[in-house]
Amino acid sequence: MKGKGHSDISEGQLKDFTESFASFNKITQKLHSAYKNLEERFEDLNSKLEKTNRELRQSLVEKEKISNYLNNILESLTSGVVAINLEEEITLFNRAAEEILGYTTDEVLGRKYGEIMGKGINEKMTLPFTFKSRRSHMNEEKEVLTKGRKKTPLGFSTSLLTDNDNNVLGAVEVFFDLSKLKELEEEVTRVTTLAALGEMAATVAHEVKNPLGGIRGFADLLDQDLEKGDPRKKSVEKIMEGVETLDRIVLSLLNYTKPIRLHLHQTEFISFLDEVIKFFEIDLAREQKGICLVREYPERTLLCRLDPEQFRQVILNLLRNATQAMPRGGKIVVGVNEERKEAGEPKNSLGRYGERRRLVLKISDQGMGMSKATLEKLFTPFFTTKEHGTGLGLSTVKKIVDAHRGDIKVESEMGKGTTVIVGLPMSK
Ligand code: ADP
Ligand code: MG
Repeated sequence: MKGKGHSDISEGQLKDFTESFASFNKITQKLHSAYKNLEERFEDLNSKLEKTNRELRQSLVEKEKISNYLNNILESLTSGVVAINLEEEITLFNRAAEEILGYTTDEVLGRKYGEIMGKGINEKMTLPFTFKSRRSHMNEEKEVLTKGRKKTPLGFSTSLLTDNDNNVLGAVEVFFDLSKLKELEEEVTRVTTLAALGEMAATVAHEVKNPLGGIRGFADLLDQDLEKGDPRKKSVEKIMEGVETLDRIVLSLLNYTKPIRLHLHQTEFISFLDEVIKFFEIDLAREQKGICLVREYPERTLLCRLDPEQFRQVILNLLRNATQAMPRGGKIVVGVNEERKEAGEPKNSLGRYGERRRLVLKISDQGMGMSKATLEKLFTPFFTTKEHGTGLGLSTVKKIVDAHRGDIKVESEMGKGTTVIVGLPMSK
């Protein structure tokens, strides 16, 4: 075969080769187009993937937005919200719940509901009961203990927490503090009772006044008819004494129930007070009970607008109570002070209120003091612990002080003594 060149390839061979080359070419072309196809599909898939990814990201952002939004709502609510899981562990506790119950969210998350809100209350009023019984509460009331162990009335509703397939996940409770409302309700009841009581008392007093006058008149006549030295004169005297007492009660009753009309005068408080006290000291000296009065006045003049006649009654009533609380004598301190208060935040945009000045009158005794129960009923008309008391002294005092836009506070300790603090607005 040496030196024969290409002429050695037969014609048949050449044909075969050409054909195979053509077919190879075809296959290559096919492969090429298949590859192109694949590439296109890949690109297509890739862009689809990217789109899905984008959508997913978007939906995550939106989900977070919604969750933040819901969270903000939850935290801005003035109602407390608490949720528990099936293990009765707290899973949610919003800011209002913190404020009402005194616990922080960190403190309660993961703890049993019963330890936080179930202390000393009927199990039927608790949240775990809701998913045990599958029954919700609607606008009911209960009293719970706060962290500081303060009894707080709550209005509350509960309901089951379920997912989309109705599987129970736990339960949620919404509640709000009813203390303010309860206080107002009590105040309204008290005021209405007082008004009714006052009206009745006034009627009774009027009805009693006339026959009382009659009894006094006839007792007087009887007294004149009896000879001097007649033992029956003693009985008449007793009748007159009884009438006197009744008369005093009727008078203070009428006084108490009479609506107050103030005749305000610009008054220099210290000299006014001192005049009343001097008058009282005359009585003290006569009674000889070993009681002395100590004055603690400031040097300044203090101007108030008050009704001297009525306010005199306030001071005298308080001094009388102090004396009666010290049957074995002691010291009564009468102190006067001026209080300056920054009037706090202005309630509107018109600016500062400026400084508010108040006069504070303090009357302290070293008497027997009073129990908590007495302290609570102090201003209730007819409440008295004294055998011959009317129970109208302090209620009259309060009425007069209120009419002067003042306030009154009583501090007392059994066996130590009592301090009554009266605040009055001062003239500008
Ligand atoms: P009264 O003096 O007729 O009993 P008040 O309204 O003046 O009526 O007082 C009501 C009650 O408050 C008194 O019965 C007494 O128990 C109590 N109280 C008032 N002031 C004092 C005081 N300074 N110290 C102790 N108890 C007081
Ligand atoms: Mg009294």
